[in-house]
Amino acid sequence: MDSLRAALNDSGVTLHCGQNMASVFSHPIPAAAIIVAFGPRVIPPRLAAAGLLCSVLPDLDVVGFKFGVAYAEMLGHRGFSHSLLFALGLAALGCLFAPLLKSRPAIAFFFLLAVTLSHILLDALTTGGLGVAFFWPWEETRWFLPWRPIRVSPFSLEAFLSRRGPDILLSELRWVWAPSAAFAVAGLTLRRIIAR
Ligand SMILES: [Zn+2]
Repeated sequence: MDSLRAALNDSGVTLHCGQNMASVFSHPIPAAAIIVAFGPRVIPPRLAAAGLLCSVLPDLDVVGFKFGVAYAEMLGHRGFSHSLLFALGLAALGCLFAPLLKSRPAIAFFFLLAVTLSHILLDALTTGGLGVAFFWPWEETRWFLPWRPIRVSPFSLEAFLSRRGPDILLSELRWVWAPSAAFAVAGLTLRRIIAR
């Protein structure tokens, strides 16, 4: 992450880049909740690992800053890698490699689709940066949801540790971690009841 942060700092978009430190930790949380809720019989460890990877993979686009790609371009941050087509592509790959993931193709497809979409959805719920290019390549508009409760924060550690840090953490705990934990506990409880 240090190199990504350095790339952003070099690019001069640090304060309003839309991606943030706390989200780097928060993006895998909905995926983890689905894994816990459904359990290893439905989502075996290899598929779970692929899912956690897919939940953060769209943000590899920040590497583009290092090469002078502007935020608003489709190769820029929250561009093509934050589209429905990209999510479907990862899901299709999961379906193709399902035997390697020790999973059934349909489960691999829908799980990887859900976790990649969860990343895009969380970004669309944040208060800063540009929106997500959800309908790329049919449309290059950047989208946010009408309701955006998740506070955006900078990549830079200094800025994050400033006064805004606790607010940002609190907003992510409230809108990402708490609902995810509730979903995981509900799924776990339901599985235990069914298993009796
Ligand atoms: Zn993102």
